[in-house]
Amino acid sequence: MAKDEVLECSFCGRKKSETDLLIAGLDAHICDKCIEQAHGIVMEELAEKNSSTLSTELILKKPKEIKAFLDQYMIGQSQAKKTLSVAVYNHYKRLLQPASSKEEEIEIEKSNIILVGETGTGKTLIARSIAKMLNVPFSIVDATVLTEAGYVGEDVETILTRLLQAADYDVAKAERGIVFIDEIDKIARKGDNPSITRDVSGEGVQQALLKLLEGSKVNVPPKGGRKHPDQKFIEVDTKNILFIAGGAFSGIDKIIGKRLNRQAVGYGASIKEDKVDQENMLQYIIPSDLKSFGLIPEIIGRLPVLTYMHTLDEKTLRSILTEPKNSIIKQYKKLFKMDGIDFSIDEKALQFIVEKAVDYKLGARGLRSLCEAILTDAMFEMPGSEEKTLRITKKYAENKIEKSTLKRLKAV
Ligand code: ADP
Repeated sequence: MAKDEVLECSFCGRKKSETDLLIAGLDAHICDKCIEQAHGIVMEELAEKNSSTLSTELILKKPKEIKAFLDQYMIGQSQAKKTLSVAVYNHYKRLLQPASSKEEEIEIEKSNIILVGETGTGKTLIARSIAKMLNVPFSIVDATVLTEAGYVGEDVETILTRLLQAADYDVAKAERGIVFIDEIDKIARKGDNPSITRDVSGEGVQQALLKLLEGSKVNVPPKGGRKHPDQKFIEVDTKNILFIAGGAFSGIDKIIGKRLNRQAVGYGASIKEDKVDQENMLQYIIPSDLKSFGLIPEIIGRLPVLTYMHTLDEKTLRSILTEPKNSIIKQYKKLFKMDGIDFSIDEKALQFIVEKAVDYKLGARGLRSLCEAILTDAMFEMPGSEEKTLRITKKYAENKIEKSTLKRLKAV
């Protein structure tokens, strides 16, 4: 006992009696208070190290590497992949620019992106894949639910609520995240001439959105919904958040066509009409087409990187079924395997699914619904049964589709 009295913390010198806990090492002792303090130091160091590792990780991904990563998950769309790889690379380069470079007065602007393409062409997939690669928080919001303050719907700030949730409410992490705003075309003003056909609600949301895209400190309701005077807000700076907006912009091909026609007859025409690929008009899209569609110029200015997604042809749809790392067929194979079932599907059945997907005009999204319709019965019946092999033939697939409600889609 008397010996205890002499023991003391080798770091702060506190006597054992003055501590709650004194831990012995080989040649020294440490008290609970010093452990706590040391823990604090370790955590701080680690946080700093993590953020610098994050920085090096980000800078290490060159545009070609970003594209190669996307190639694993996504078939085709090489133009969009290339444009996005560069935009994302530049965005994170901007984040990593040392404070000193600001003195040179060259400030790299944000490269928010707008993706135009039919539904199911992979707009969400490409944004999600980039977030996965960078390991940053990612959220998807639907622009259609957004309304101006005072109307039924959600305030634009709730866009950031989702991002905060995805970042487990770590504000610093959320502030480097990626937000995918889906269906941006749905908040377009109807008609090109604001003085005649002014759709105020659409424009109001665009104005509100502008503030977020520009980069400002925004008060975010942590639980979303309507802003409420008594609610506590979390302040989020959107300066370094990458916004990717996507939309089908249905009918924009006609706007592009009209513009090209005008250019073709005008002086200094660059694209002759006979050279225009009528099937893939989106490839000629320029920002002014978005303005004609009804986006306000300020929004277009804040989404400076414009790119498009190709409509998926049969060959691409066929590849999407089996080739990506996470392909639909690979997923089903895995699901069946978990029940000890050996799943296979004939090439002819795959071709049949592709043809139907083209019919239904749902892009790659149709592939999943078709597979689901074909396989649901088997996924219901087989687990726990004696049957341990499932081979899908074209006939089997036809049969299931014939009986499913999907068939009705054809009429649309
Ligand atoms: P969008 O956002 O354009 O409507 P999604 O990204 O949601 O389309 O795509 C719908 C589905 O199709 C997703 O399951 C996605 O994985 C798949 N998909 C779409 N395009 C591709 C592609 N080019 N390669 C691989 N899968 C794709």
